[in-house]
Amino acid sequence: PDPGWAEPHPARALVDLQAIAENTRRLNEVTPAAEVMAVVKADAYGHGQLPVARTALQAGASWLGTAQLTEALALRAELAADGLHPPILAWLYSPSAALDDGLLADIDLSVSTPAGVQQVSAAAHRTGRTARIHLKVDTGMGRGGARAEDFGDLLHAAAQARAEGAVEITGIWSHLARSDEPEHSFTAEQIEVFTSALAQAGQAGIDPQVRHLANSAGALFHPGAHFDLVRPGIATYGLSPVAGQNPAEVGLRPAMHLQARVVLVKDVPPGTPVSYGGTAQTSTETRLAVVPLGYADGLPRVASDLGPVLIGGLRRQVTGRVCMDQLVVDLQGRDHSISEGTVVTLFGDGAQGHPTADDWARLSGTISYEMVSRIGTRVPRIYL
Ligand code: PLP
Repeated sequence: PDPGWAEPHPARALVDLQAIAENTRRLNEVTPAAEVMAVVKADAYGHGQLPVARTALQAGASWLGTAQLTEALALRAELAADGLHPPILAWLYSPSAALDDGLLADIDLSVSTPAGVQQVSAAAHRTGRTARIHLKVDTGMGRGGARAEDFGDLLHAAAQARAEGAVEITGIWSHLARSDEPEHSFTAEQIEVFTSALAQAGQAGIDPQVRHLANSAGALFHPGAHFDLVRPGIATYGLSPVAGQNPAEVGLRPAMHLQARVVLVKDVPPGTPVSYGGTAQTSTETRLAVVPLGYADGLPRVASDLGPVLIGGLRRQVTGRVCMDQLVVDLQGRDHSISEGTVVTLFGDGAQGHPTADDWARLSGTISYEMVSRIGTRVPRIYL
């Protein structure tokens, strides 16, 4: 069913919540021993935090994950209105933030340093709550987390805060750096470092409720990384974490379809320069279609002259430069089947013959994650 256009917007991002539900079920199936945390940071990779969170929970995700604490707080409030109260983990907040709101909203917090334990403990003392913390160990990502040689100090600080009643050590966790290269041995190395860190925690009398390491690629390709909980983001949205891989190969279906309606067509002679800089010129008598999406909407300008579109059932390309709000497509002839109002698909489901977010990413030197998460707020999300 087509829910129509949110007039007067000439473009839309259709988000197929059925696909989100199916992908979540698929992720549960392939990780039989683990629970699923749907990662909904960055407005659910551009798909819309609340509708995605609700759908994923209904389809069997039992946790939600966000980057920023502010995202988690918004989610907690929105879900409370539905009577839902899942565990939510937030892993990014300022080292000077007062975390009282996080504790009062029952948000699980990631902690990487003894100073971080102090910060959370102080909030626990102020609020009278016990903080739920996940101790993060850096197993090779070189980003958040205590390095293995510093993990003992973090465990010590956490055990002390636990003894004071300030914290409950809910999780021990880490993040994979190269799981999207399924054959690469680095993931096995990270699993080994993580396993040692868990053993070290055990020796310190710390036995958390959940141990978690895997992102989407970890969930799909590295069973040894599943532990108690997996944290898929991109796969929830039906895109493969492996660039160039058809998501259908791993049982996923893309949820987002970026579409616009042609706002203007015009017939032009051969040799007509198109868009800024005249980088493209028509080679024949042809019809040009003006499409109301541009780089301010998240289509990379670097995809000028390259980006694929589906229009009138045919695959065409962006002609000339992508502008801030618009782009032009040369229809390669006087195609009278295309007129103002014709629907253009910029990306969608490759299995249905659409160009994909991954196609755009490859042509733009980026990854599908960036394509979907940067679709601008000017483009209404319409839920199927
Ligand atoms: N876990 C953490 C800590 C992350 O930062 C992310 C996203 O980058 C994810 C899980 C989800 O990763 P992916 O989208 O590759 O599944």
